[in-house]
Amino acid sequence: MKLIDLTGKRFGRLTVINRADYNKNNRTVWSCKCDCGEIVDKIGNYLKSGETQSCGCYKKDKDFKNLREEYDNKRVDGIVKPLFKDKDPRKDSTTGFRGVSKYYTRKSKEVRYRAWITVKGKRHYKSGFLTPEDAYYKGRLILESEHLPK
Ligand SMILES: [Zn+2]
Repeated sequence: MKLIDLTGKRFGRLTVINRADYNKNNRTVWSCKCDCGEIVDKIGNYLKSGETQSCGCYKKDKDFKNLREEYDNKRVDGIVKPLFKDKDPRKDSTTGFRGVSKYYTRKSKEVRYRAWITVKGKRHYKSGFLTPEDAYYKGRLILESEHLPK
């Protein structure tokens, strides 16, 4: 069987750099560069069939998008319905996002945002976000999925 050279071809977010010097289960493996900068080895057949379209970051983005859509679906007339069943959303939140607070880094005194959630008297945090929105979507919603009973 003649080998089709995939060098330089694009599959989703992946651009083929060259053929890897090994095969996987008798299938040709290609080194690809993903749009996010990651270099990954992928099997040629999966590239051609469209099964492989990124280093894995595409799936992560999609998961994040789903999370956000899920959140948007909970909006009714511009008001976010409480996701947290036990308590009413705090109206005095200074960041505009429930469960997100502002803080300053200890050394450089830069503004950062921290997501938090209290479940059964225990507080959980995710810190280091640059915007309150990030802290909410990438922090608070993750915390909710990790700690709130399903
Ligand atoms: Zn990637």
